[in-house]
Amino acid sequence: MRPSEPWGVYVHIPWCAIRCPYCAFAVDARAQRPERAYTDAVLQQWDSEREYFSDTPSSLYFGGGTPSQADPAEIARIIQAVAPAPDAEITAEVNPGKLDAGRLAELASVGINRVSLGVQSFQPDVARRLGRAHSCKEADDVYALARTLGFRSISLDLIFAVPGQTLADFDADLDRIAACPPNHVSLYGLTIEPGTPFHRAGYGKKSSEAEEADDDLWRRMYDRATERLADVGIHVYEVSNFAAAGHRSRHNEHYWRARSWAGLGASAHGCRPAVASDPPRLGAWRTQTRSEVDAYIHDPSSIAEHVGEESLLAELIGSTLRHVDGVDLESVFERTGFRIAVPEALLRQGTLSVENGVLKLHPKDLPVVDFVAARLCEARHRSIIDSA
Ligand code: SF4
Repeated sequence: MRPSEPWGVYVHIPWCAIRCPYCAFAVDARAQRPERAYTDAVLQQWDSEREYFSDTPSSLYFGGGTPSQADPAEIARIIQAVAPAPDAEITAEVNPGKLDAGRLAELASVGINRVSLGVQSFQPDVARRLGRAHSCKEADDVYALARTLGFRSISLDLIFAVPGQTLADFDADLDRIAACPPNHVSLYGLTIEPGTPFHRAGYGKKSSEAEEADDDLWRRMYDRATERLADVGIHVYEVSNFAAAGHRSRHNEHYWRARSWAGLGASAHGCRPAVASDPPRLGAWRTQTRSEVDAYIHDPSSIAEHVGEESLLAELIGSTLRHVDGVDLESVFERTGFRIAVPEALLRQGTLSVENGVLKLHPKDLPVVDFVAARLCEARHRSIIDSA
């Protein structure tokens, strides 16, 4: 980890009331949850990984699963053990169901200062297709309640390109967002992952009538969101994330800027900094824990895998270019030993720009970031001076 670089802690809370049909996350929907044993395992993992990080984390993020389904006392135990910086951003993902809304005040009282509300859609038909257990009124209510509790920042999650969803359906969701408006919006086009109930039901397969919204509609929905959110002061800053001034997700910035974070809990990924005894330019160690909850409780250690320079380059370009602040080319060289010969054609057509050594993707081209990142990785070369 470079000196004084901020870092964060992610904690996976696997509990869910039901499994949604598009969900590919590691979730546990059983009625009797071993919550205390799970927290004990998280704390045991934290004890063994703490030494790799200096100072205190600038963010702590409870994701899932559904952190608002957890006993707030267990969340409090984790906050106390992790001991984030006094001004740290501490986020919990919250579902808009009745139980979850009832826990909002307790989450605020144990130190959660930012909530991410998993609304996904305010439209009854779309929400039903997504298998959401909450009603649209519950979504409205949980937002209103969160506002009264004084959270520092409120984010709403929306899903688009749902099978059968029209542009009018999506516009109606954007109307509701504009009426709130939250401080932050995370916007995801639905992808049908193999192994999910949606995939088993035939969605996303070319032969099915219920295939994913076509690329053209996907793009029109994305562009509509970008314009309409900007109208209410919520601007795109990462391909899937939009924020009002001062409300960017501090925690997610660690991922997008390829910094370090500890990944705690079942199925959690982390990124450990290199230590002094590692070879020069060994950028990072990726960590991964067991996915299944009982297996994790039994053995909460993570497995660490060295990220080679080629992989680190792909990750650095792929994640930092997603962000409107772009990527510092000198820092790419320092961390990987590679320089990038930025393709002239992409500069000429305005897809990319370089200013003061920072490479940026034009905001209108954020949705094609993967394609551009692949072109840039092909255009890498070793510095002659470095390899001499
Ligand atoms: S609530 Fe979220 S994590 Fe839980 S099953 Fe549904 S989509 Fe997955």
